[in-house]
Amino acid sequence: MYYGFDVGGTKIEFGAFNEKLERVATERVPTPTSDYQALLDAIAGLVNKYDQEFNCEGKIGLGLPGMEDADTGAILTVNIPAAKGKLLRKDLEAKIGRTVKVDNDANCFALSEAWDEELKDSPSVMGLILGTGFGGGLIYDGQVFSGRNHVAGEMGHMRLPIDAWFHLGENAPLLDCGCDKKGCIDNYLSGRGFELLYAHYFGEEKKAIEIIKAQAEGEPKAVEHVERFMELLAICFANLFTANDPHVVVLGGGLSNFDMIYDEMPKRIPKHLLSVAKCPKIVKAKHGDSGGVRGAAFLNIK
Ligand SMILES: [Zn+2]
Repeated sequence: MYYGFDVGGTKIEFGAFNEKLERVATERVPTPTSDYQALLDAIAGLVNKYDQEFNCEGKIGLGLPGMEDADTGAILTVNIPAAKGKLLRKDLEAKIGRTVKVDNDANCFALSEAWDEELKDSPSVMGLILGTGFGGGLIYDGQVFSGRNHVAGEMGHMRLPIDAWFHLGENAPLLDCGCDKKGCIDNYLSGRGFELLYAHYFGEEKKAIEIIKAQAEGEPKAVEHVERFMELLAICFANLFTANDPHVVVLGGGLSNFDMIYDEMPKRIPKHLLSVAKCPKIVKAKHGDSGGVRGAAFLNIK
């Protein structure tokens, strides 16, 4: 049995998956806001409860908005104050008496999709989240690749490629990022970036959903905006694909529901790739909101 915990700022979602990777249990409890001991107790309590229910020792994986410091193991997070700076994995292992795996939620999203029935035989899967921010995860042979510092897949903090900068033209906005750098693609490709760019070029604020609706109706500003954005996305994706050459790319997050992306990317990307490279298959995420729990559970498959 595989146990996954999606530890968020307000709730902890638990899921148990059997050997066929089918979900057989779900439970949600509030995330203790500042009490670390209560956080450990909440997780250990669910493990004990479902060990008894299934008469087994489940393998434990945790996904959270943050990561472990590669050298000390201390949790780096802003959204879960109770876990901040704590040796969460080590303390849970001592409390429960078995190995615990911890990874960030974007990697868990990518891992969950990579274990989808149709993708599980792909040697590599790149998960990209076009949500409030832009991020992702890299899966090789069914396992997360997180690199030396656990920042592999943090593609949102790569700066805009030069061809993207030229594409945006003389009036290109140089946007500040939450990581203190300028020009991180997070601020251009995310749903937030989609809205920021519209506001920059047209001087008016509109929600992404309204822009997409207006574009479908042929409204000129929205049409121009979407055209500019699609090419920007294609350029940035092509640069990522040249560095990683994934077999399959899975898109998640709110903006991944914009179906035009799946028609436009295969047409636009090839001209930005090396001539020997083909555009990988780009598909929409299938597991949506349960990705965090699934991915956390599947940290232990291999
Ligand atoms: Zn950044």
